[in-house]
Amino acid sequence: MGFLFNLRAQSVAAFRVATGRLSRLALTKGSIRTQILIFCLAMSAIAVALGGYSIVGIRHAGDLVAKTFDESLMSINYARAAGADFAAMRVASSQRLLTTDPAIRAGLDDQIETLAKALSEDLTIAADRSQSSRAAKAAAKVQEAADAWMELHRRAVVLSADGGSASAPQAGISVGDVDRYSRIVSQQVELLVNYTAGDGFLFRQRALSTIKRDLQLNGAGLTFALILSAFFSWLLARRIIGPVAIASRVARRIADGDLNATIPKGGTDELGTLLAAMETMRDNIRRMVNEEVSQRRSAQARLSDALETSREGVVLLDADGEIALANTRASEFIRLSPQLLLSDQLDISGTTRTTTSRTAPAALDNDSDAFASEAQLTDGRWLRVSRSETQEGGVVLVYSDITTLKEQKAELHETNLRLDAALTHMSQGLCLYNSEARLQVVNRRFCEIFDISPELVLPGMTLQDVLRLSIAAGNHGNRTVADLLAERDRAISPREGGNYLQHLSDGRIISIAQRPTTDGGWLVTCEDVTEQQRAESQIAFMARHDALTRLPNRTLLAERIEQAVAQVGRGSGFAVLCLDLDNFKQVNDTLGHPVGDELLRAVAERLNSCVREVDTVARLGGDEFAVIQCGVHGSEDCELLARRIVECVGAPYELNGHRVVVGCSVGISLSPGDGTGGEKLLKNADVALYRAKMEGRGTWRFFEPAMDASLQRRRAIELDLREAMAKDEFALYYQPLYDLHLDRICGFEALLRWMHPKRGMVPPDQFIPIAEEIGLIIPLGEWVLQRACEQAVTWPSEMKLAVNVSAAQFRDPAFIDVIAGALTASGLSPHRLELEITESVFLANSSETLATLHKLKEQGLRIALDDFGTGYSSLSYLRSFPFDKLKIDKSFVRDATATHGSKSIVRAVISLGRSLGMTTIAEGIETVEQLNHMRAEGCNEAQGFLFSHPVPVSEIPSKILELRNGFKPPAFKNALAS
Ligand code: C2E
Repeated sequence: MGFLFNLRAQSVAAFRVATGRLSRLALTKGSIRTQILIFCLAMSAIAVALGGYSIVGIRHAGDLVAKTFDESLMSINYARAAGADFAAMRVASSQRLLTTDPAIRAGLDDQIETLAKALSEDLTIAADRSQSSRAAKAAAKVQEAADAWMELHRRAVVLSADGGSASAPQAGISVGDVDRYSRIVSQQVELLVNYTAGDGFLFRQRALSTIKRDLQLNGAGLTFALILSAFFSWLLARRIIGPVAIASRVARRIADGDLNATIPKGGTDELGTLLAAMETMRDNIRRMVNEEVSQRRSAQARLSDALETSREGVVLLDADGEIALANTRASEFIRLSPQLLLSDQLDISGTTRTTTSRTAPAALDNDSDAFASEAQLTDGRWLRVSRSETQEGGVVLVYSDITTLKEQKAELHETNLRLDAALTHMSQGLCLYNSEARLQVVNRRFCEIFDISPELVLPGMTLQDVLRLSIAAGNHGNRTVADLLAERDRAISPREGGNYLQHLSDGRIISIAQRPTTDGGWLVTCEDVTEQQRAESQIAFMARHDALTRLPNRTLLAERIEQAVAQVGRGSGFAVLCLDLDNFKQVNDTLGHPVGDELLRAVAERLNSCVREVDTVARLGGDEFAVIQCGVHGSEDCELLARRIVECVGAPYELNGHRVVVGCSVGISLSPGDGTGGEKLLKNADVALYRAKMEGRGTWRFFEPAMDASLQRRRAIELDLREAMAKDEFALYYQPLYDLHLDRICGFEALLRWMHPKRGMVPPDQFIPIAEEIGLIIPLGEWVLQRACEQAVTWPSEMKLAVNVSAAQFRDPAFIDVIAGALTASGLSPHRLELEITESVFLANSSETLATLHKLKEQGLRIALDDFGTGYSSLSYLRSFPFDKLKIDKSFVRDATATHGSKSIVRAVISLGRSLGMTTIAEGIETVEQLNHMRAEGCNEAQGFLFSHPVPVSEIPSKILELRNGFKPPAFKNALAS
């Protein structure tokens, strides 16, 4: 019983725990499907638990019934059996006592003994089955009474066996005693029966109460299960039905167009997902609607803006011809000429209809009826009126002001006429081919250059046809069309075009440029550059040769030295011999420059005759020459050559009827002993030459380190130079720049001066190279720029300022900032500042230099190429950067009136400058003759002592006054005389 109770209590507790957990799980976690599943499982679990509990209760009641039956009835039966046994014993005892037959007596004794045993067993079973203590006690008392009865019975039997019944009373035993004991036993048995029967009743009572309690518990469990299932149903409804109702309400509101409907926040289940999706859907719909609305609004606004801001006048007439819409522009036109509204008859009185054109039907919608005409307003403006019908039977009229177009057309016509004239008279030949390689345009000059009759060159011809005509004209010797095309294809890329030179049979050189046109064709221009080529090759030659003697100049000499250096170490060295003529100045001064020039040419010839082919003779300038002697095995070789040179050059000359004798001194440096770099070797040879001159002319000296006295001097300058800036020893002088066309002063060149306390005024040639070498040129150049700009800003605004800039300054990354700083600080307009650079600027890094130059030019500065013609391969630099000015070096200017070479160079440079759109300035003008010559050659500007020496800043106002109304040569002569 206790076990069953425990089992039921545990299952009820487990059920409670399980349902509690399930409900918590169902309420808090998982999807709705999970919740429903959990709900069903919970209900099933409750039903199973209730069923199980009922089964256990019924089984328990059955057990009780069985027990009542088994235990109590059996106990009663055995108690009654014990009573029956004792009754039988009493009967057998009475018979035993009455009978005398021994056999019957013995039989009855056995029967009584057997019955006593049976009685004892029945009592034991009755006591066991009843399981109550009082029944056990009653059974024990029955046994005790039965045992006592048996004792009496046995004694009575003995007495009866000894003599009859008379002796029994003597023994104290009577039949009455036996009967009394018999009644006691019967009473005890009766008591036992009653006890067992009472126990049976108690069993029944207990069973009934147990069944009743089970029934109550079942009822309670059922009620609890019903409440629980109702609770779960309520929870499920609350979790699902409520939100579903809300969701459907919101969905209906959204469907009805309420896009501001508030959507409650859902959980993580399907409803939550549904609500979130509805929110997203609502937001998307709202955004799309907003976008649509704003697009429509902006489209409308744009349309009305477009209509209002349109340069076209737009009018919409309805089917009755009434104005449905008109923009401001149209109103303006219609105010001037109301007839413009008569859309179907655009021959408006008061306006002039000039042309009527039907727009190409293919380009129009079949339903639309497009119509265009031109009309002139009363104020003179021209309109183009386009008319198209609307689907509603109305008309859209668009008025476009074509006054400008008309003017442009007229202008275009004029321009075409002018272009034709320009084409006919241009100096270049021109052919234009279309994308199908057919000739479109050709000008007269083209036919002239190739000597082809203009009637033969017809539009529509191919390039091959044109080349055939050129070959037939005898321009190309034996060359065929294929040869000419191959020549072109080698030089010209079909995409980017290109240039090449074509050499004609008669010696002319034609520069042919081909450029692709945007429509897939190409343009060919041809120019006779024979003269220019000659001039250029002459300039290129002059860049590396001395114009007077045609010997290699310093540039070529440096290259040759480099080549010789490369040979050193292969068994032989080489020597550099520097020489200059003794007393050459006297020849110049006494016999004049032409004789001096003749002398220099003769010396050059003699020097060439002294050396072998592998050696190089160069003119360094003035009366200075240099020789590179190759394959030198010892100083004796050099000595031999030096002696030969001294003797050869020293021999008398017959020049223009004058007998001239000049000596020469030679300084020699040997490579590799005295250096392996061109500059060093030249410098050392120069040092040795200096010594040779010092020690008596007409001789030669080998370089020795001790000779380097000039080096010492240079060092002294270097030391002073380092302190000069701090001591404020620099000053700027200005030399006027003279405009030859306007015939008046146009600016000044700033020239640096060093006022040395001991050496006096040191010219820049002597300290600028040193300043460049020691890096002082950077702060010094900055000082020059700042000071010059400060001073120039006070001059009249038309006065330019030219400032020299050295290559080292250009290499400085801060250079552009320095320029900007000087301009900003002074307030000088960039257009007034002109930077003079030499070609050496390009030597270090051409691309960076070009970038810097372009930046400066973009800022408005002008860039002049100084010392043009004396340096390197000038032409490539001219091509790479659009200089504003070319400065013809004073050496050419000086010789231009004397030597043919310089004259040609000057002419070539001026014509080059003109064709490249650059100003040319001649520097070093000292004589009126030179000035007139430069003016006649077409040079734009001039500078030189003839106009003025460089002057301190204080003299600038007087110089401007002097030169602003033209130049008066006598003043210069007086100045020279003084
Ligand atoms: P440059 O730029 O070619 O300057 C012209 C030089 O020719 C000046 O010499 C000028 O005095 C001289 N000159 C002008 N007219 C005549 C003339 O009719 N006959 C002769 N024989 N010479 C004339 P200067 O002032 O001695 O300057 C020499 C060079 O020093 C300049 O040559 C320029 O390269 C350099 N230089 C001068 N000032 C500066 C400067 O501030 N910065 C830099 N980097 N270089 C400077």
